[in-house]
Amino acid sequence: MTVSHTSLSRLGDAARAFLERRRGLYIDGAWEDLEARIEVLDPSTGEVFATVPRAGAAEIDRAVRAARVAFDDGPWRSMSPADRGKLVWRLGDLVEQHADELAELEALDNGKPVTDARWGDVAFCHELLRYMAGWSTKITGETIPLSSPSAFHAYTLREPVGVCGQIVPWNFSLMMAIWKVAPALAAGCTIILKPAEQTPLTVLRLAELVEQAGFPKGVFNVVTGLGEEAGAALAAHPLVDKVAFTGSTEVGKKILRAAEGNLKKVSLELGGKSPMIVLDDADLERTIPAVASGIFHNMGQTCTAGTRLYVHAKVADAILKGLAEHAGALKIGPGLDPDTQIGPLVSQEQFDKVMGHIAAGQAQGARLLCGGGRRGERGYFVEPTILTHTTPDMTVVREEIFGPVLVVATFDDHGLDEVIRQANDSIYGLAASVYTRDVSRAHLIAARLKAGTVGVNTHHVVDPALPFGGFKQSGWGREMGWSAIELYTELKSVGVALT
Ligand code: NAP
Ligand code: MG
Repeated sequence: MTVSHTSLSRLGDAARAFLERRRGLYIDGAWEDLEARIEVLDPSTGEVFATVPRAGAAEIDRAVRAARVAFDDGPWRSMSPADRGKLVWRLGDLVEQHADELAELEALDNGKPVTDARWGDVAFCHELLRYMAGWSTKITGETIPLSSPSAFHAYTLREPVGVCGQIVPWNFSLMMAIWKVAPALAAGCTIILKPAEQTPLTVLRLAELVEQAGFPKGVFNVVTGLGEEAGAALAAHPLVDKVAFTGSTEVGKKILRAAEGNLKKVSLELGGKSPMIVLDDADLERTIPAVASGIFHNMGQTCTAGTRLYVHAKVADAILKGLAEHAGALKIGPGLDPDTQIGPLVSQEQFDKVMGHIAAGQAQGARLLCGGGRRGERGYFVEPTILTHTTPDMTVVREEIFGPVLVVATFDDHGLDEVIRQANDSIYGLAASVYTRDVSRAHLIAARLKAGTVGVNTHHVVDPALPFGGFKQSGWGREMGWSAIELYTELKSVGVALT
């Protein structure tokens, strides 16, 4: 397909060459073409610039069978942990070597600022691959003393869970894929990966890099398609041992129901409505940019986004003035412009949803402090928006907006217990943050917040070594660190009667 639009003229040669190729499905180490296609849009213009295969149950079945054979009978299972780790490390090297290209493709496909894609998403990907490569040689069991009357030698083995279906969303396409792929490969599993329909490109490019790295055929498969078709078939497939999903809580529940047939293992990273609490002694110079990044990073299309701000009345004016200035100064533009700080939302659907929330919030009594509007006549640009005077019953306070919209409430000296109660009053429990100079209060509040990750004087705390996941309806299981290896392994107990 010819790449024509002006924003595409910012692409480097490598990304351009990728777009010129016809993209197929990657199944059993080979590329399969498919007539049925999904159109891929540039969210900064709404124009179609590429297509990818629209696979269904038949293609999923072929990919699952290939992954099954690769797991049960292929060279992958007998490969030494060290050799497996080297392959995962090599994939990390390839991702780093192609980092600019991957960042450009992500920025074009999703709309996110290319600078964030390069130094946030893609940099995290290669470091996570390297981190997980290190675990390959350290996946061990234990010897366990038994209390039985006869003598036993008992121990555990930790084995790969098997064939893994991995379904990822569009907000951090490559990064969400690597969060799942890196530990699964390090543990010795095989994979069928389905990217989101809106952002399939970087995951297809990843499949080329997997091929280049030299993984045995069938170990890693990519099937693009729609959630209700390819995704549902993958989640329900009886030869899949585990399904790992990141996306909406609503679809997470569908995944659970689909997994019921063979009771495959399930891990879920779902939605959030994360609170940020600013106390009266907060360091304003640190807090304002931290809170702004907590909500506006990735245009608020982040599962951990700090969407609810609770600020002490004593500092509320200064914080809100600073936040409004910060929001107003953020440069809005297409993702591929290296100066862009706020790109478009990913789709018309997200744009309509977010604009609907902003209108509903105002209709229910919230006041617009800044933003609230569309930017430009085409593309899905929404201004960074702050709504004040919110109350706990408003839909903007209760529902995940998944856009650049911060909702604010204030509290006074007597209200801290009530604020913690409100912060925890959500079906979600993914992240939270607290801003204070008082170390004791910070730790006491961190202990009381019902969230998988709590930041102190910062919001987004994500690292390859730090467990990540949700309380309540924000999910099941923890990715990152050793916890991720646990998600992709089964524990086996062996008892040897010695007498
Ligand atoms: P979504 O539907 O949950 O999509 C996530 C992934 O699941 C995509 O690959 C999707 O495919 C697939 N999928 C959809 N229905 C499926 C099914 N029945 N069985 C198996 N897989 C299925 O998310 P969305 O529709 O893109 O966004 C909707 C809302 O979800 C957003 O507005 C936001 O609030 C939330 N969200 C949260 C996160 C997060 O990280 N927590 C990420 C994205 C979205 P398709 O791409 O074809 O739909
Ligand atoms: Mg969907």
